Amino acid sequence: MTGTPDHKNADTGREHTSRSVSPYKAGLTCTCPNCGEGALFTNILEVKDRCDVCGFDLSAADPGDGAQVFVILVMGALCAIIGVILYGPVGLPPAVVAGVLFAMVVFGSLWMLRVFKALLIALQFHHDAREGRQEDIAHEKKEGDDT
Ligand SMILES: [Zn+2]
Repeated sequence: MTGTPDHKNADTGREHTSRSVSPYKAGLTCTCPNCGEGALFTNILEVKDRCDVCGFDLSAADPGDGAQVFVILVMGALCAIIGVILYGPVGLPPAVVAGVLFAMVVFGSLWMLRVFKALLIALQFHHDAREGRQEDIAHEKKEGDDT
């Protein structure tokens, strides 16, 4: 059973959805966080509105700028380390080092952006994360009155 609402979370009052797909597996394979089979992206980085396999609504997916920050930090560190190694101990000419780093930045960043964006979306759906709504505040107040 995947993606069917089964009960409300006692803490948040939100409808909890059980998922059998690991968010990490769905993120690394860039697949639907609900079924783990349908493709998540329509092109390189654009998220589909709905899964082609299970029909899961992906329109609420909002990874924000989180993926870009991770990619900048990880690729920046990797490129600095590899650039120093290629120029120093390996002894490649500066133009070759620049070419290798350029290819690494372009292709590595695109691949990492897809993976990190898919991972953040999968984690968002796995934890039912979303913007706070008026009902959430009302639920918190009601719960506070009970104790
Ligand atoms: Zn799906």
